Amino acid sequence: AKLDGRGSVWFFDQKLHDELLHQHRLVDRLAKALNSEELSLNYQPQVSAASGHIENLEALLRWQPEEGPPISPAEFIPLAERSELIHRLGDWIMETACRQRAQWRDAGLPLERIDINFSGRQMSRPDIFERFEACLARHDLGPRHIGIELTENVLIEADDRILEGLRRLHHLGFRIAIDDFGTGYSSLSYLKHFPVTALKIDRAFVRDAPDQPEDRAIMEAAIFIGHRLGLEVVAEGVENREQLTLVQEMRCDLVQGFYFFRPMPAEEVERILAGLVAGHPGLSG
Ligand code: C2E
Ligand code: MG
Ligand code: MG
Ligand code: MG
Repeated sequence: AKLDGRGSVWFFDQKLHDELLHQHRLVDRLAKALNSEELSLNYQPQVSAASGHIENLEALLRWQPEEGPPISPAEFIPLAERSELIHRLGDWIMETACRQRAQWRDAGLPLERIDINFSGRQMSRPDIFERFEACLARHDLGPRHIGIELTENVLIEADDRILEGLRRLHHLGFRIAIDDFGTGYSSLSYLKHFPVTALKIDRAFVRDAPDQPEDRAIMEAAIFIGHRLGLEVVAEGVENREQLTLVQEMRCDLVQGFYFFRPMPAEEVERILAGLVAGHPGLSG
């Protein structure tokens, strides 16, 4: 730290500088990756808690640079959100997921929806709903085929335009899930006003519930409220038998997690779904 002429202190923080540089480079590389083979969508099944059957898939973005290790969306999406890049990325995700869903529909694979994650910055794009509906129309898809996931905070911060758009989608029959439920804003009263159809209980609760009575209690309460409001409840991040048994006892409707499936490339999903068509059961528990 140095004193400047006016007597105030300014810092040259090498670590902060390095971090900013790193972020800047990452965004640069991501922009270039957009039209390359480096980006792809993986799909993670959500299975029925009762039957173990695959119901829906969640689309999850993957970035595998030509060299080096994969980079997590949890790292690069927030960075992309600081610039217009998030919109180009969002368009690409929407188009890729819709094209894939249409292809699987045409192939007759047994599958309900592909759910797409939308970040806050994506929702604040003025024409996001027009783009979404145009994309669906291009591929001749409807509410049976594509759903969306938003975090609590995105809903809380939504302005009238966004809420209006969501209400319209809800009215048309689209599934709208609250992602990472329980980790954002804690008031429950907002549930009453928002056009949503499902709660996804954050995986932190699922992870700790077997050992922590408090997490278990919060989960039970969330599931109870969800069901009383007529919402579907999804447990995220189920990794073992114990957690599965617990969320089954708590009457979650759908389960997502490594215990059943990891996020997978489209070809792998296809093999599994095609196997189901060919009459192989045996996916449960
Ligand atoms: P999310 O939407 O809550 O996605 C669930 C995350 O949990 C995924 O991480 C998934 O791989 C991981 N997961 C699923 N089952 C398990 C499990 O049993 N154990 C553990 N430990 N993890 C599990 P991922 O793919 O790294 O994505 C992280 C976050 O990045 C997502 O959280 C979402 O917020 C964001 N994201 C990913 N793809 C997209 C996208 O296409 N668009 C937007 N806007 N955000 C995305
Ligand atoms: Mg999600
Ligand atoms: Mg989630
Ligand atoms: Mg999450």
